Amino acid sequence: MIDAFFIIGGIQPRVRVLDERPVRCPNCGLHQASTRRVDHYLSLFFIPLIRIRKGEPFLACDQCGQTGPEGYPNASRPTPVPQQHCRSCDRKLPPDYEFCPYCGRRL
Ligand SMILES: [Zn+2]
Ligand SMILES: [Zn+2]
Repeated sequence: MIDAFFIIGGIQPRVRVLDERPVRCPNCGLHQASTRRVDHYLSLFFIPLIRIRKGEPFLACDQCGQTGPEGYPNASRPTPVPQQHCRSCDRKLPPDYEFCPYCGRRL
C-alpha cells in the first residue's frame, strides 16, 4: 500500500506569496519584488495533502528574476545545516522537513 501511494503521489513544491505588496528590488530598483516562500507538499493525484517542508522566506523579483534571502543585499544568512535522521527509515534529511519524504512518518 505504501508503495502504491508513492507511485501516484509525490512531492510538489508550492510557491506562496507571503506579502502581496511589492517591494523595491535591490537588483533592478523596480518595485516588482515580493516576499515568497516555497513549501513542499506530499501530494496525491497532484493535490497537495501534507506539508512536509516549510521553506525559508525569500525575495523574488518579477522584473529581473533575481531572488535571494529576504531583504537580500545585507541579509547575512548563517549557513548551518545540522541534519536530522528519520527514526523510522533512518535516512538523512534536511533539518526543515516536518515529514519524512521516504516513509511519510512525522519527524
Ligand atoms: Zn529586480
Ligand atoms: Zn523515513
